[in-house]
Amino acid sequence: MPIITERFNVNTAGFTDIIDITEKIKQIIENHNPENAQVMVYVAGSTASISTMEYEPGLLKDLPEAFEKIAPANKTYHHDETWHDGNGYAHVRATMIGNSENFPVKNHELVLGTWQQIILIDFDNKPRARCIYVQIIY
Ligand code: ZN
Repeated sequence: MPIITERFNVNTAGFTDIIDITEKIKQIIENHNPENAQVMVYVAGSTASISTMEYEPGLLKDLPEAFEKIAPANKTYHHDETWHDGNGYAHVRATMIGNSENFPVKNHELVLGTWQQIILIDFDNKPRARCIYVQIIY
């Protein structure tokens, strides 16, 4: 059972920047072309997340608004009292959403809903260069 590990970098603007990485993932899968596989997409770091959404302008506003209610950026966090980096909200959001997602590949195709894209969310309070890992198991 081979395990292939690939990675690529994404530059983000931070501040709950939501980036569609679907095409990049598809490209990596295509390069190896497994018939059936499990694909794990992971971001290294404690202030960014991997998830899926319908990548459209309405939800690109709705999601940050929802995060703002759950973990407001302008609140004082215990993390900030200790580290003074002002990104307590980013850590809380990232842990809630999680760092990785698994996707099936069936008949050489990444299985996604018609309106479903794979996204990187960068919650940090500054622009970041993020490393995305893609592991293909088949
Ligand atoms: Zn921090």
